[in-house]
Amino acid sequence: MNVREIIELKKRVLSCNKCSLRTTCKSPVFGRGSIMPDVLIVGEAPGLEEDEKSLPFVGRSGSFLQKIIDSVELESYAITNVVRCRPPNNRTPTQQEILSCRKHLEDQIKIMKPKLILSVGRVASEAILSRKVRILEENAKGILNTSFGIPTVLCVHPSWAIRNGGRTEEIRKAIEECKMFISKVDATGLESKVS
Ligand code: URA
Repeated sequence: MNVREIIELKKRVLSCNKCSLRTTCKSPVFGRGSIMPDVLIVGEAPGLEEDEKSLPFVGRSGSFLQKIIDSVELESYAITNVVRCRPPNNRTPTQQEILSCRKHLEDQIKIMKPKLILSVGRVASEAILSRKVRILEENAKGILNTSFGIPTVLCVHPSWAIRNGGRTEEIRKAIEECKMFISKVDATGLESKVS
């Protein structure tokens, strides 16, 4: 991992004005966590608190997610979003916005080389895999997906879990799956490759 490359990419992301979201948001997000993570956690787009702090997953759904990450003791991870600027009123990002931001994620993955991607929520998962997803059904079958050449686990969005009574089970299972995968990769010395 080249620290200079990541600093340059961060500058590019923060100064990007490829789409009009940059004119309505306050501050784009780049990411938080390790700069050489085993697991790169990717959500949809920043909300109000994320836009204020220029950091992903620091609002209500973020602290819900963070508690589960901590309780499962996932240690080497970073968190980012597919779309880096907050859509007005937290609307779902358009396909156009997703496509113009996707290159940043691709570049970030190429530099960070995570062993695994944890895709959080339907919008992020569909953006990453470029197809429709059924997260709960797909998860039951194990890790079958690859995005940007990296094995990818899908996970429900913490906002969905909060709306459904604050259930933690689905997210916990997905993060445990990530931990198991990483320990297998470490034990066998296999590498996950970026294509
Ligand atoms: N939801 C997301 O998908 N990302 C965030 O950063 C916050 C909420």
